[in-house]
Amino acid sequence: MASDQSSTIKAIVKAFDSDRSRLMDIAQKVQDELGYLSEETMETIAEALGIPLVEVRDMASFYAFFNLEQKRENVVRLCNAVVEKMKDMDSVGRAFEKAAGCAFGETSPDGSIRLEYTPCIGMSDQAPSALINDIPVTSICPEDVPRIIKDLKAGKKYSRANVSSAGAEVDKNLIKAGSVIFSPMEKGSAIRKALNMSPEDVINVINQSRLRGRGGAGFPTGMKWNFCRKTKGDAHYVICNADEGEPGTFKDRVILTECPDLLFEGMTIAGYAIGAQEGFIYLRGEYLYLFETLQKELERRRHLGLLGKNIAGRSGFDFDIRIQVGAGAYVCGEESSLIESLEGKRGAPRDRPPYPVTDGYMHQPSSVNNVETFCAAARVMEKGAGWFSKIGTKDSTGTKLLSISGDCAHPGVYEIEYGECIADLLEMAGAKDVQAVQVGGPSGTCVAPKDFGRTICFEDLPTGGSFMIFGKDRDLLDIVHQFAEFFVEESCGWCVPCRVGTTLLKQKLEKIMAGNGSSLDLKELEDLGNTVKLMSRCGLGQTAANPILTTLQNFPKLYSRLVKGDDFVPPFDYEKALAPGIEMAGRQPVVEEEV
Ligand code: SF4
Repeated sequence: MASDQSSTIKAIVKAFDSDRSRLMDIAQKVQDELGYLSEETMETIAEALGIPLVEVRDMASFYAFFNLEQKRENVVRLCNAVVEKMKDMDSVGRAFEKAAGCAFGETSPDGSIRLEYTPCIGMSDQAPSALINDIPVTSICPEDVPRIIKDLKAGKKYSRANVSSAGAEVDKNLIKAGSVIFSPMEKGSAIRKALNMSPEDVINVINQSRLRGRGGAGFPTGMKWNFCRKTKGDAHYVICNADEGEPGTFKDRVILTECPDLLFEGMTIAGYAIGAQEGFIYLRGEYLYLFETLQKELERRRHLGLLGKNIAGRSGFDFDIRIQVGAGAYVCGEESSLIESLEGKRGAPRDRPPYPVTDGYMHQPSSVNNVETFCAAARVMEKGAGWFSKIGTKDSTGTKLLSISGDCAHPGVYEIEYGECIADLLEMAGAKDVQAVQVGGPSGTCVAPKDFGRTICFEDLPTGGSFMIFGKDRDLLDIVHQFAEFFVEESCGWCVPCRVGTTLLKQKLEKIMAGNGSSLDLKELEDLGNTVKLMSRCGLGQTAANPILTTLQNFPKLYSRLVKGDDFVPPFDYEKALAPGIEMAGRQPVVEEEV
């Protein structure tokens, strides 16, 4: 390795205080400087940090946004999520291939442009979209593509140096603002109210509000904070999960754009309640363009005395927030994976229990909450538990943000009171002739028109916020297949039920879709789905079969029209199926001798 490159790497490692837990940041910075993470580069990082090379390789090979192969000048990542395909992503993809002179997964002949597909980047309300050198570009038409490629080659408009909110082409798309998240609040007003109480009383107020986690599981927030506070440790940590990777979700993007202050206020209150001095926001890599704006907002709060030492004049209450940027891994939305990633490792889920409240970041008590949950907690402190608990339903107090996308006139973010029914939401979004609604993303529920009276709340249809609408002309089974493919891609591979099960589910689905299935295959599909759900280690595997299971239940005709009776034996080309294995093993097929 050239000595100037080695010096660059060592300087970067030093800038991060040779802190092993900052390995993700170090690798990202080195990649920004040198174009990619070569074997030599990783060796130098490992040496400078005093850790084995395998730890660097292990981490870097896990994330989609780290490039280990060769220097890439410009990378176009076209989002291939379900809604993007519904909005003619394929035509945009073909235009990119024509303009760049290479297919997706390849680099242009002059080496200047790399084309890749990427799962949902949080822009389903303005599809088709892409990350161009990490800068989001939305509502792309095929006609826009030659101009984009020209600008890329000119090295100005889409330069990596311009990754910021100002350079991004993203609409806010806040369609409906409600009373909890998107109403104005004076900076610091909620913190000051919290500081007039003891930490225990703050937790009591959150308990009285009956606030539940907005990620979808709905664990009571006050109870989580209480568990965390009561656990002894060298330090306590507040962690904000801003890794909204569930396809079709983009409401955190709008919160982080419109009211990041409310989030910081909520995190600071959590810090006071659980006794933490440090908080982290785990920001998904796809939202890197928001990093600079968020940093400026944090800085403003430090100047106002709302972060740092002796917050809001309270002697001894010190709390600050650091932003950790992810690098493209859906599984990091799972809280234990997120914590591993935050520690600078590959985002493999941990065994649970123990849960993060007792054994979280650096094995210390940590409270991991969703962006929306922290915002709601701040509002509870500002306006009171009584005010908050009157909104919504008995078991689902407050409001919920929905990211509405797909076949509707007004895609965007809606803040609704818990308890709204699907039919009303469809009307609000201007959706007609709807075949199905996917509530909660691929890991959620596919709802049929007969159930459009069902309501968004923990008692009926809980959701993290994704709400995808499919019109009557959509091929619903093809959409289920895309979701099945997504889970195959995103499985971290640690446990067999998920690693193998997701692939078997996809293959079985393909067999049925090709008309080669019997009613026995349908039964096997359902059994397999339930096994994957039951036996998988983390939330990803436990929900990976949901698109299949919920459509089997709610849209049985989708499948039954394709399958034959129990006695149907599909035609099977034995030699064709064995050919790749025979070729790999270098053997000749065994020909049975006639007796
Ligand atoms: Fe990894 Fe899937 Fe197992 Fe979770 S369920 S640990 S994502 S293989």
